Amino acid sequence: MWLDVYENVNELTKQEQLALFKALKNDLFPDEPDKITKLLKQIRESRFSSGMACVHCGSTAIKRNGKYKSRQRYLCKDCNKTFNDMTNTPFSGSRYPEKWVKYMEMMVEGYTLPKIAKRLKIHISTAFYWRHKILNALRSLDFEQLFGIVESDETFFRESMKGRKVTHRKAKKRSTKDKKRGISDLKIAVVVAQDRNHNIIALKAGTGRVRAEEIDAVIGRYIHPTSVLCTDTATNYKKFAKIKGYHHETINERQKQRVKKGIYHVQNVNNFHSRLKTWMDRFQGVATKYLDNYLYWFRWLEIDKHLSFEKQVEQMLISACQKSNNTTVQMLRSA
Ligand SMILES: [Zn+2]
Repeated sequence: MWLDVYENVNELTKQEQLALFKALKNDLFPDEPDKITKLLKQIRESRFSSGMACVHCGSTAIKRNGKYKSRQRYLCKDCNKTFNDMTNTPFSGSRYPEKWVKYMEMMVEGYTLPKIAKRLKIHISTAFYWRHKILNALRSLDFEQLFGIVESDETFFRESMKGRKVTHRKAKKRSTKDKKRGISDLKIAVVVAQDRNHNIIALKAGTGRVRAEEIDAVIGRYIHPTSVLCTDTATNYKKFAKIKGYHHETINERQKQRVKKGIYHVQNVNNFHSRLKTWMDRFQGVATKYLDNYLYWFRWLEIDKHLSFEKQVEQMLISACQKSNNTTVQMLRSA
């Protein structure tokens, strides 16, 4: 049936064929251009939620200054610079606005760089820079404070020097096993803390066994003083609780204690660890310097996982553009 129509298309002029193609495309994918327009409106409203202000100097002396490539442009009367809704976002200066939404969909899916590059027909290094521009922007939104019962525990990742010269030890082949077993200095400790309202913090805390001071340095300021810290019986957490003056409930897992007083346990945080590890496997070792970006990414997906896929994509895109961020390719290269 469709073949008959297709054959008749040849009788149309080039212009008519193009018009037909556009009509079909709009019928089949009606929301594509609308999606960007709708998102732009949401981005603007979230970014300038307390009023229009210059993204360069913060001045509120702003006037609309015509359109450039169909985007509204603004002029700051104080610093004389212009900007648009996307200036200083991960996508400013991007030559492919039609690929933003697609890119975000793949962030939510957790696609690897080769897969993204292939799907979007962009260079793998472009895919890499977008990923870290987006993750840096998301991270600038920081973590929420944790309240009430706060479970915490650390997990370990093998140190990876991907994309950097190895200076402090001999480079080793990927397949050789670590000589030191268990928690060696080559392993990066990641501290995870989570309250019962699904607020999660995950941050890299140093190499090898993590000290109380290191735990404090990375998560201390995010845990409200009135919280009840809930951990295993490790001494580093006992000391951390003491430093901060938290009420501390310890779970002795070696003695097969799982839940104390019916409510205190570290199962949520341990389940988070195992989901995190499974998710990270696909990247086959993440450069240690980017580990916090990946941790934030996974945490983001965890917190939003109850939302529909489309909502997750929208949220991530709007949030990545919420604050002025100016990660440049140069910055990522020299990091
Ligand atoms: Zn200004």
